[in-house]
Amino acid sequence: MIVLIFSKIIYFVCVRKIILILILIITAQLYPQSVTISGVIRDKQTGSGLDSAYLILINKNNLAQRDTFFANQSGFFSFILASQNEGQPIKDFYISNPYPNPFNPSVNIEVYLPSSDAVTVEVYNLLGKLIDQKTFILSQGRHRISYDGKGSAGIYFIVIKYKGKTSVKKIVQLDYVDGSGLKIFSNQNFTTKIYKNTITSFYLIASRFLYVHDTIEIDNSQNHQLIFNLETVHSYVTLIDLHNDVLEKVVQGYDIGILNSINHSDLPRFYKGGVDVQFMALWVSPTSYPNNPFQQTLKMIDSFKVQLNKYNSIFAQARSSREIDSLTKIRKFAAVLCVEGGHAIEDNLQKLDSLYNLGVRYLTITWNNSTSWATSAQDPQASTKGLSEFGRQVIRRMDSLGMIIDVSHVGPKTIDDILETTNNPIIASHSGARTLRNHYRNLTDQQIIKIAQKGGVIGVIFYPPYLTSASTANISHVIAHIEHIKNLVGIDYIALGSDFDGIERVVVGLEDVSKFPNLTEALLRRGYSISDIRKIYGENFLRVFRQVCK
Ligand SMILES: [Zn+2]
Repeated sequence: MIVLIFSKIIYFVCVRKIILILILIITAQLYPQSVTISGVIRDKQTGSGLDSAYLILINKNNLAQRDTFFANQSGFFSFILASQNEGQPIKDFYISNPYPNPFNPSVNIEVYLPSSDAVTVEVYNLLGKLIDQKTFILSQGRHRISYDGKGSAGIYFIVIKYKGKTSVKKIVQLDYVDGSGLKIFSNQNFTTKIYKNTITSFYLIASRFLYVHDTIEIDNSQNHQLIFNLETVHSYVTLIDLHNDVLEKVVQGYDIGILNSINHSDLPRFYKGGVDVQFMALWVSPTSYPNNPFQQTLKMIDSFKVQLNKYNSIFAQARSSREIDSLTKIRKFAAVLCVEGGHAIEDNLQKLDSLYNLGVRYLTITWNNSTSWATSAQDPQASTKGLSEFGRQVIRRMDSLGMIIDVSHVGPKTIDDILETTNNPIIASHSGARTLRNHYRNLTDQQIIKIAQKGGVIGVIFYPPYLTSASTANISHVIAHIEHIKNLVGIDYIALGSDFDGIERVVVGLEDVSKFPNLTEALLRRGYSISDIRKIYGENFLRVFRQVCK
């Protein structure tokens, strides 16, 4: 019974829409000079129509001539490109484009006034009932009044009264809408209006907030039926996260191929989050493995390889920027190994070489523990004790191998010694800005400037206690750290280093690796351009990667 009622409703709605479309087609025949441009704007990934999408029409021969049309809630659009002399029932006054978009409840009424005066606009439904009425006092020139539809689907009449003259136009509304009615859209002069007889070819740009726009070029010789498939800004950029500790869980038997309700990372969530490349840290507790951290590091690599083999159709290891490029091109999730803590090499350069050969592409010089050759930021001697002579050998060996130096966790004197020793740009894979949050794990402005001067990057961490002294952190705190670095040294030195699965507390909105699109949206709302986001999410780091890991 319920199914029956439901199908009746669908039948009724469909029939009504078909009738309205037929009416539209019949009335369109009355304007043979017009060109109808219709179609749909869809999400490339899901194929579903996009609400709040719009089209910008630009005259190819005069780029200043442009017009905007909005799609309906389902992404459908249809508008008529009328000839300039159409719709001019009264010589000194006309309504242009009376039903520019039957799928769109918002109708633009364009009026030209030879002198300033009162203009009354009334909207009636098919039964003659007054739906809306407003009087505007307008100056001489062209004006646009918008009508944001009210009420059920159907045919409506727009009546314009000016100096005792009346003009009527019909519009078609395809859906029930509860709009705000008549209002002055803008009182600026519309001298750039596009008419069919004033253009030959034009650009049509389909766009929507959070999406990358798509442009096509078409002519006005015929009607057009178009499909736009727009890609989200998030999936358009290459996202490289510089720090994640999931391998700590993997070595204990965690399977990253299945969607888990525990931890922060697995392949389904990396996919959902649009993560293209993940640096996976090999971190060995110096207290649990005081004597054989290298051996435990190898064990972690083995468990990583087991997961790689198990999910090799969607998951691969990258060792170079070339491999990153080819894997991201085929949309295969890539992991790059890195080692967190110089204690893993057990004061032995051959072990450093072995790690490089296994694909390790950055080494965090220290974790919270100092080694015999480098001092951690947590060490009481951090500000005075730096690299030993062997420490400088490690740095030079990393330079010649092509392994990136990471200074997150590293003490200030050691960072200075590293910068003096290396010829390469260095990174801080997962840190924040000390000016915003005074914590030993964060970088001072001087350190940020020095890293930038060398051409390196700072991967902004998502760990609440490093972002703020408040009890919780949200995305705006992450953006504040990004913004601080941007204001200090520019957009070219910022990256992301979430530290997911290495943190026990998370930022609200960035709870696991599937939540990166929330950051993208917040950055766009904040005014960051697509090109800024591309840099922060991957291009800045790739510059370092290409330079160091040849
Ligand atoms: Zn760390």
